[in-house]
Formats: sequence, C-alpha cells, structure tokens
Amino acid sequence: MAGVPEVIIRLESLFSKFPGIGRKSARRIAFHLLDKERDEIIQLAKALVDLKDKVTHCPVCNHITEQTPCDICANARRDDSILCVVEDSLDVIALEKSVSFRGKYHVLGGLISPLDGIGPDDLAIDSLIKRLDNVKEIIIAINPSVEGDTTTFYLSRLLKDKPIKITRLARGIPIG
Ligand code: ZN
Repeated sequence: MAGVPEVIIRLESLFSKFPGIGRKSARRIAFHLLDKERDEIIQLAKALVDLKDKVTHCPVCNHITEQTPCDICANARRDDSILCVVEDSLDVIALEKSVSFRGKYHVLGGLISPLDGIGPDDLAIDSLIKRLDNVKEIIIAINPSVEGDTTTFYLSRLLKDKPIKITRLARGIPIG
C-alpha cells in the first residue's frame, strides 16, 4: 500500500484479527502505538509474551492461572462441596466480582456445539467427573442459548444418578 510503512500494515492485519477490532480501529491502534515511548512498547511486548508463557490452566478447575492449582482451588476456606460449572474463565471473573459465592468452580472451556464440531470430549467434562467425590451440589451457571442448553442438558443427564443436587442459575450470568 503506497505511503504506509510495511510494519504498520503488518500490525493492522494482526490487530484486525482481535475480537471487535475492524481495519480502521486496527490502524488507529498502530498509529497510537507509534506515539508511545520505547519503554512503554517494550512493557507491552513483554506483557504479551508473559501472557503466553505464564498463564496456564488450573489442573483442577481449568480456570486460567499463574500458579497451580489456582488461588480459588488452593483456598482452604472455600467450600469443596459446591461446584459452580461455567463456560469459560471470563464467567469465573464475572461471578467473583458480582456474587459472594464461597464454593469452587469448574470451567468447561466452551460449550457443546455439534455445528462447530465441538463435542463433550473437547470440554473439561472428564476432569469434572473426576472431582465429584466430596461434591454435594453443582450449580450450572451457563447462559441460555442452543449450545448452553445442550451442554446443561448433557451435564444434567450425566450427573442424574449421582447423589448431587443440581441447580441451574435461572437468569444466566450477569456479565459486565
Ligand atoms: Zn483451580
């Protein structure tokens, strides 16, 4: 593209792959970064690499974490017998902010969606079943949608013979 440095074009194409970022916004971000001090750019680049190197998934609940197990799983004051099952880590963060839930979580890492080729084996359902020994109650906090309802139905059926009380959060999760 005439008059546009190659590196700007490269950044634009990278930024425009982000959720909610179109080509115009991508260009605006690239120009915004151009005005930043070198130190700030290095901090940003380092944070991006750290995101990939340091953030992993908790082996117990599948929530994102920098330590294993995550701080929620490691907290002995939280109730092991109540699990709240959610779609992704954003739901955990939203619930932690909005409600005083004292149990623990299980992050599925997505929803069952046959059209997208996502089945139960692609989600953290095996690890959920493996941690049910002391669990008395499961709260399924999955937003209503075709995929959400399919996943909730699948889980309810899977758990129906176990001595566990299943509750569904009726109005979904208030995000934001
Ligand atoms: Zn955890």
